Amino acid sequence: MEKTKIFLDENYMPKRWYNIQADLPKPLPPVYSPRTLKRATLEELSVLFPMEILKQEVSQERWIDIPQEIRDIYAVWRPSPLYRAIRLEKALKTPAKIYFKWEGVSPAGSHKPNTAVPQAYYNMKEGTQTITTETGAGQWGSALSYATSLFDITCRVYMVRVSYEQKPYRRNLIHLWGAEVFPSPSNKTNAGRSILKENPEHPGSLGIAISEAVEDAATHEDTKYSLGSVLNHVCMHQTVIGLESKEQFKMEERYPDIVIGCVGGGSNFAGISFPFLHDKLKGDKKDLRVIAVEPQSCPTLTKGLYAFDYGDSTKLGPIAKMFTLGHDFIPPGIHAGGLRYHGASPIVSALKDQNIIEAQAYYQTEVFEAAMLFAQTEGHVPAPETAHAIKSVVEEAKKCKQTGEEKVILFNASGHGHFDLKSYELYLHGKLTDFEYPTELVKQSLKKLPKITED
Ligand SMILES: *Cc1c(COP(=O)(O)O)cnc(C)c1O
Repeated sequence: MEKTKIFLDENYMPKRWYNIQADLPKPLPPVYSPRTLKRATLEELSVLFPMEILKQEVSQERWIDIPQEIRDIYAVWRPSPLYRAIRLEKALKTPAKIYFKWEGVSPAGSHKPNTAVPQAYYNMKEGTQTITTETGAGQWGSALSYATSLFDITCRVYMVRVSYEQKPYRRNLIHLWGAEVFPSPSNKTNAGRSILKENPEHPGSLGIAISEAVEDAATHEDTKYSLGSVLNHVCMHQTVIGLESKEQFKMEERYPDIVIGCVGGGSNFAGISFPFLHDKLKGDKKDLRVIAVEPQSCPTLTKGLYAFDYGDSTKLGPIAKMFTLGHDFIPPGIHAGGLRYHGASPIVSALKDQNIIEAQAYYQTEVFEAAMLFAQTEGHVPAPETAHAIKSVVEEAKKCKQTGEEKVILFNASGHGHFDLKSYELYLHGKLTDFEYPTELVKQSLKKLPKITED
């Protein structure tokens, strides 16, 4: 009999994170300072991040030990189950075998605590009193609030205003775990005030919220900043997802042909795919396909430019080479708030640039349609972000139906959608609209990239 879920014993929880930097065909381009447009110095970055995090950010070691204190907390929800989506397969009448790694079981309901906990831990070790951060849909803000509460650290969250208004329950969760949360743009920072002056009704964006959190950290003693995605160390912390999945696939005596994840900044995609890409980069699994899925209204990897750009809107954060739509591009207010970011992880971007991975983009109504099918077959209600990955799975499974191929498809179910039911309500009432890709806005935005001379 085929199993519905594959559980891994706690003893098999990964003891080390996988650092894909050790296996990249080319080293990553360096990070530049927004002030000098020269290479960023450790000193500049250490205003924002603790030393251990910075070391991990540039490490070329393939494996990095997970401290036991972190593994003890991971054990609250890890290892997470790997599910076989038998009922979805039946509904699609596909010969494909569909698996999903279910990250919705964490306290915050997504993959984000996988990095929130180590980030809070390393900050605690180095004496940080307060951590500031941004959040889109509230997933990251709630995950970091949970993590900081475990180590007695104060947490201040800048939440993108449209999401602050659309998703009140995540705000409550942030308060419940003892953190403060402000709608961004806010009047608490120069960055926020200058944007509000031009437009008091500004809906906000991740780029602006990052600017506010960075400014807050840079101007307060014992305060550091934390990013929930994009950066190398964040992607690395998330590899527990793929490492566990590999063990679970061994128990199934299978190996995926296709690995799929949605991409906002790229961290859950990195988490599920990098441990499998390890095999592809070694030459063992040359035919493995890895697909990054994004919204049509913010198609960074499919339509952006691979170039140096600021990580945030008001040019306070470091400059990295990545796929970008331009740092002052404000994506339309789609309901997958976690996917509204102008850039993408430099590692994921490099993999895309070198054609090691593929990218696809979908409209939000077709994404919600796939999410409904998933909820009605598998039961779990996916986050709108996760639904992007599901849409791609459905498309790939349909191709298998046409060709008769029994491909093994794995996707990361990055989070549950219990706090996103308002979005589902709008979808069910036919009130969700699709946003065309704003070609002209992006063209303007891409004219403002910083001029970096690579040394
Ligand atoms: C934040 C979030 C995402 C997008 O972020 P990535 O860093 O690209 O993973 C996707 N899914 C869920 C459920 C999220 O909370």
